[in-house]
Amino acid sequence: MTYDSNNIFARILRGEIPCDRVYEDDHVLAFNDIAPQAPVHILVIPKGDYLSIDDFGAKASAAEIKGFFAAIDHIAAARGLKANGFRCIANTGTHGGQEVPHFHMHILGGGPVGRMVPGA
Ligand code: 5GP
Repeated sequence: MTYDSNNIFARILRGEIPCDRVYEDDHVLAFNDIAPQAPVHILVIPKGDYLSIDDFGAKASAAEIKGFFAAIDHIAAARGLKANGFRCIANTGTHGGQEVPHFHMHILGGGPVGRMVPGA
């Protein structure tokens, strides 16, 4: 699968579609999910064109990878999620239920977020 530069998150990165931004630096943009599944539901996306978490791991530079995870740490601290914990989810591909083909990490927290896989 090749990267589709018209996916919704690419358009958010280009400023063509607004987002409720919570954090931004050289490597990432983070914004509130439009349909939150928890009291805190933030999406963290790299600024580079990566389809999925495995594509990011295979192709991103060390600085991009470090920057991505440092941003998650920063957001978790800033939103007070570190004391009681939170969950990160990277849905990947068809079986993983990925809807938007630009790598993104969901940060879910602000309360108990339930079982790891609903229905399991
Ligand atoms: P996925 O299933 O690909 O892991 O998750 C995609 C997420 O993007 C969903 O949670 C969905 O609510 C969110 N989303 C889709 N379109 C938009 C949008 O235009 N703005 C924002 N902020 N979130 C979106």
